[in-house]
Amino acid sequence: MEKELIFGHQNPDTDAIGTAIAYSYLQNKLGYNTEAVALGNPNDETAFALKKFGFKAPRVIKTAANEVNKVMLVDHNEPQQSVSDIEKVSVTHVIDHHRIMNFDTSSPLFYIAEPVGCTSTILWKLYKHFNVQIPQNIAGIMLSAIISDTLLLKSPTTTSDDRQAVEALASIAGVDYAEYGLEELKAGTNIKSKSEEDLINLDAKSFDLNGKAIRVAQINVVDLSEALTRKSALLKTMETTSSTDHYDLFMLLITNVLDSDSVVLICGSNEAKNVFEHAFGEVHDSQISLPGIVSRKKQVVPQLTEAFNLEVNL
Ligand code: MN
Ligand code: MN
Repeated sequence: MEKELIFGHQNPDTDAIGTAIAYSYLQNKLGYNTEAVALGNPNDETAFALKKFGFKAPRVIKTAANEVNKVMLVDHNEPQQSVSDIEKVSVTHVIDHHRIMNFDTSSPLFYIAEPVGCTSTILWKLYKHFNVQIPQNIAGIMLSAIISDTLLLKSPTTTSDDRQAVEALASIAGVDYAEYGLEELKAGTNIKSKSEEDLINLDAKSFDLNGKAIRVAQINVVDLSEALTRKSALLKTMETTSSTDHYDLFMLLITNVLDSDSVVLICGSNEAKNVFEHAFGEVHDSQISLPGIVSRKKQVVPQLTEAFNLEVNL
């Protein structure tokens, strides 16, 4: 069988890396020849989860076409979030829980998309569908992915499927998910040791919204006020990055994982900032509080997309 690579998005999170590992295991059981790789190094939270369940970080690739002809994507589909030479390889499988945008293929493919809290929840159902047993360590890394994406089942993206998957996977992995989940989330909140540049790149995604380049970054903390002591340095770094990489709008969600609240820091063109304000309200001193907002894919990107679409019709 011809070898294929499986990977998640750039700036990988625990879903991107954990689900790639768990999907590769399943696909190999089903007769494929796959290797889970990553488009970046694991963040602190992911590193904690990998270590807990005895995995090494997947090999990091910059390009795919130099080693394979075919790839499988997890936890993303938008080409600008994928491997840099995605147009040079064929995508044979996708499992994802994001909006579908700018995704084209020249051949038929397997594509599973569900609006659930985590890609590993879909994968958990696939294991059942194919009647493949989930090993303890694979269950652990899938559980970690769901805890990460749903902020321990508190994000509004959480569905009953996610809850069922968490219960089932925790039992196979042999952990108390509430206790382990809090440890895992906290492992990703140490911002002290990181530069502003690290922080704005840790979990950042680019979106093309009606021709505007939007960058949405997110960091998890346990203390918003502590994070905001670095506000001016963060904004300065966001501005520099925006001018180098030509973003019309750069927003950083600083999310308190214990309270499920966010503060957003924002920079960009006046026009783009106006559109942002249409969607979310008035920004004061490059900052706005968004209580209850924790999900980029469900509570930020759709609202921004709508606001940018309306803008063109004004
Ligand atoms: Mn992800
Ligand atoms: Mn995900």
